[in-house]
Amino acid sequence: MTLSAADVRVGQGFDIHRFTDDPERRLVLAGIEFPDERGLEGHSDADAIAHACSDALLGAAGLGDIGMHFPDTAPEWAGADSMTLLAHVVTLVAADGWVTSNIDCAVVCERPKLAPRRDEMQAAMTAVVGAPVTIKGNRAERLGAIGRAEGIACFATALLVRERSADDGGERS
Ligand code: MG
Repeated sequence: MTLSAADVRVGQGFDIHRFTDDPERRLVLAGIEFPDERGLEGHSDADAIAHACSDALLGAAGLGDIGMHFPDTAPEWAGADSMTLLAHVVTLVAADGWVTSNIDCAVVCERPKLAPRRDEMQAAMTAVVGAPVTIKGNRAERLGAIGRAEGIACFATALLVRERSADDGGERS
């Protein structure tokens, strides 16, 4: 299999959610629940890692963004499990002939501490994506809203490799 430049695509995803005092909201990141932490506001479960990774995959494949596929005005996505949305994105990207090489994710937050749960988060994301997903936690050093612990931001980069073109109908050998 010989790759041309057009067979390798990079995509970037970004997401940010604000903490809420609503006791009904659970904090979920990369599909992992963090008990005793404030939840994030959002139409779905507000899993910023799953959202940023979904957008990175869609961007790399040229398939739009998660707002287009899962509008926050649609009642069927209210309270949605974002790992289910991510699994749907993975299916769309694969159906378009792309294989995910990896996703790398930088999460910016003052809390929770991610390092103790990093392996669990990476394993959960890797299982859904079907390729290595790495997650790194960073603090905002007291700068701006994130530095005041008002929310969580996430940046993700995905790399895709073309498995087959839409018109050759099969895997390249
Ligand atoms: Mg989001």
